[in-house]
Amino acid sequence: MIKSTFHTHSRFDDGYEELEVYITAALDKNFQVYGFSGHAPVNFESIWHIKHEHLDEYISTTKQLKEKYKDRIEIYTGLETDYFDGCIDWRDKRGIDYTIGAVHFLIDENTGNFLLIDGTVEEFENTLKRFSNDIHALFRAYFSRIRDMLMKMTPNIIAHLDIIRKNNANNAFFNEEDSIYREEIMKTLEIISLTNTIVEVNTGGISRGYVKTPYPSKWILEACRDMNIPIMLNSDSHHPDNIDFYFDEAIELLKSIGINKQRILCRNEWCDVGL
Ligand SMILES: [Zn+2]
Ligand SMILES: [Zn+2]
Repeated sequence: MIKSTFHTHSRFDDGYEELEVYITAALDKNFQVYGFSGHAPVNFESIWHIKHEHLDEYISTTKQLKEKYKDRIEIYTGLETDYFDGCIDWRDKRGIDYTIGAVHFLIDENTGNFLLIDGTVEEFENTLKRFSNDIHALFRAYFSRIRDMLMKMTPNIIAHLDIIRKNNANNAFFNEEDSIYREEIMKTLEIISLTNTIVEVNTGGISRGYVKTPYPSKWILEACRDMNIPIMLNSDSHHPDNIDFYFDEAIELLKSIGINKQRILCRNEWCDVGL
């Protein structure tokens, strides 16, 4: 198995520590491939995105580390990109090897307010309120946003596909058996399949204590398997201690449902490697 993660944050965005500290930790944990994916800059005030004026430093630092550690680990430069009306397309930015496309929030058409999907319980309740507490309307809005992103700004990897269940412990907001929910996910998987996007298996929600299983849920991974959609195991770590958090358990879960490989960047090409 080639040990890797392509979804990681640092002090450049909402993570901790310098980029090099992550590489040192990765070497300690026997990683062979490591990708940085800071939150790409946005044109609004934000404390969790890389600042426009720091982006070049972020990219050049990753390249210096790539060179410095080239005999020990492969390093790639990525961005986790938010998709919303008016967002920036970072796919052709010089030095960027890959993008992870994410929908962390929707925007209220009337007020322009942010409606967080990836927020606290209170923020999620507020988002739902804007949909008149109609969870089905929220499912449709969130997943149609993702489909829009997949078609208009196809990323290499789709981030935490069902992060809408982040605050759904004990089915507080919905049941995953819900037929509208399943329909929306299946429609989205069809577009993922058509656009050749990789679905990440993200353990970041577990390391931060929100969920008990990786995103996306097991039944969605089974559907990926049946549709031949490639997956990639990622830690979405914001701290060097978590770069392989829950990896052993996630690999066991994947193998138990017959997924034995992942698609990663390896020697500058996308390739399928064993888990
Ligand atoms: Zn994210
Ligand atoms: Zn992330």
